[in-house]
Amino acid sequence: MTARIIDGKAIAADLRARVAGEVARVKRDHGLTPGLAVVLVGNDPASEVYVRSKHKQAQAAGMGSFEHKLPADVAQDDLLALIAELNRDPAVHGILVQLPLPKTLHTETIINAIDPAKDVDGLHPNNAGRLAGGFAALAPCTPLGCIILSKSVHASLEGLNAIVIGRSNLVGRPLLQLLLNENATVTIAHSRSRELAKLCAQADLIYAAVGRPEMVRGDWIKPGATVIDVGINRLPTADGKTRLVGDVAFTEAAKVAGAITPVPGGVGQMTVACLLVNTLRAACAIAGLVKPAV
Ligand code: NDP
Repeated sequence: MTARIIDGKAIAADLRARVAGEVARVKRDHGLTPGLAVVLVGNDPASEVYVRSKHKQAQAAGMGSFEHKLPADVAQDDLLALIAELNRDPAVHGILVQLPLPKTLHTETIINAIDPAKDVDGLHPNNAGRLAGGFAALAPCTPLGCIILSKSVHASLEGLNAIVIGRSNLVGRPLLQLLLNENATVTIAHSRSRELAKLCAQADLIYAAVGRPEMVRGDWIKPGATVIDVGINRLPTADGKTRLVGDVAFTEAAKVAGAITPVPGGVGQMTVACLLVNTLRAACAIAGLVKPAV
């Protein structure tokens, strides 16, 4: 068997186009321009790339996009003051503080300061709790993207056996909740789980969100399963550069799986597209409009 490659790039482009259509509609019909504020502390090169991409894509979707760059040694109170200002700003509907933050800052305090209605990263405890309770919530973008990619293969996830490997607040835990909302049967694995290969062998859907290059092997996978690889790992190459690999041994896995996401070109593409979705949804909710069609 050769797996179908799930084209995250094309699916994300389609999603961005649908967001842009809805943004144009709410502007025209309601005079509302959804606005995204991204806060970058320090100059981590990878974070700078992500922030640029978020800014560019928000603008391309017709949204307001506001970038705030602060020095790595910014005082926590100054960052909190900026968040308070963004919470009050009527042009801002989504606030994202790019993580990781420098060690001098207390990430939890910073996240908790964001107005939950504007928490488009879905990390505020109000949103995490609402999601866990099965209530409407702003959910983290990467897991949202994983669900959309899964649904590009399976019209419904109901009754499917899913395994999520990784239990971070950013990916694994919210993905578990979103899968439950889809009525999948979910196992969540982590560094203390035993016999991971056996757990994977039961799964119709495998989500790898670990941060360990090519950990999930081809012979762990049930023939025909759908494999969504969240991992982004940079490996050095012989010529001194780096190459990206996922948490799944792609070549082996593609011989067994029914469908699989590549790295790059899979989940990564969806994360920013889903950030735009969350910003649009937050803007509509704050303005008291019905939920948009994306
Ligand atoms: P974290 O480091 O926060 O979490 C990793 C998880 O993997 C933990 O729950 C850990 O378990 C688990 N784990 C570690 N080793 C093993 C093991 N041997 N077997 C089973 N589970 C293990 O990472 P993130 O969730 O933030 O990210 C995971 C990966 O996804 C990374 O490669 C990251 O770069 C990528 N990523 C990609 C995004 C995208 O847009 N495509 C967005 C966000 C992340 P424990 O809890 O027990 O420590």
